[in-house]
Amino acid sequence: MPEGDTILRAARALNEALTGRAVTHFESVFSRVARAGNDLALRGRTIQRVEARGKHLLIWFSGDLVLRTHMRMHGTWHLYTHGARWRRPRSEMRIVIRTPEYEAVAFNVPVAELTSGAELERDESIRGLGPDILTDAFDATEAMRRIESMPDLDIGEALLNQQAIAGIGNIFKCETLFSSGVDPFTRVADLSREDIARIVERARRLMRASVAGRRLVFSVYGRGGRACRRCGATIARRKDGNDARVTYWCPRCQRRNVAANARTL
Ligand SMILES: [Zn+2]
Repeated sequence: MPEGDTILRAARALNEALTGRAVTHFESVFSRVARAGNDLALRGRTIQRVEARGKHLLIWFSGDLVLRTHMRMHGTWHLYTHGARWRRPRSEMRIVIRTPEYEAVAFNVPVAELTSGAELERDESIRGLGPDILTDAFDATEAMRRIESMPDLDIGEALLNQQAIAGIGNIFKCETLFSSGVDPFTRVADLSREDIARIVERARRLMRASVAGRRLVFSVYGRGGRACRRCGATIARRKDGNDARVTYWCPRCQRRNVAANARTL
């Protein structure tokens, strides 16, 4: 399940390999994208940059054309040198972009469209995105304001809400809340400003470490039923409605009475 850090790493690798190169081949199993690529003569255009915005990966082409892909749960971009064997079956291929040096392949990407830059900025899913936790220009105050504007959400849900703060997925939600000592099911309204500031700061620190290539040892994620590394209590797990996401937390280290708990951290 890709999160902002994974998508940012992919965008950086693609950006480095593809920027300034001409497209020599474009194909997609999405007929609308394939047709648009053909009609707009994508072949021959130069790739200007590749960037991540929240969970969207954007590939900009000369002439104000953008390929937007959204990773959702299973989407991923791979970069291959010509002739290299794909690490995913062809049946999972959704888009291929070839340049003289490389082949970029999107597998299992559920959402893709070719659009103009102006059109993209009008798109609600892009325009409404909260501050991106991984950008250098990340605006923590604005992220906090947006989280606080959703007082009835559990903090775990608020962290995943891309309109509040963009780029955090379920793994980092779980790990951030463990690191902050906050129960994922605490309502935003029941948290202090300091709690929210600490949570946002920890999320950013954890995710940026991951982007920098530091291997993270998960404290709670995927460890349901096992002993908490800090206190020995059994890690709890709970499946949420939507896309069968599983939340992991330590019932002892992560209390709802956050004000009391914070002092011990
Ligand atoms: Zn614990």
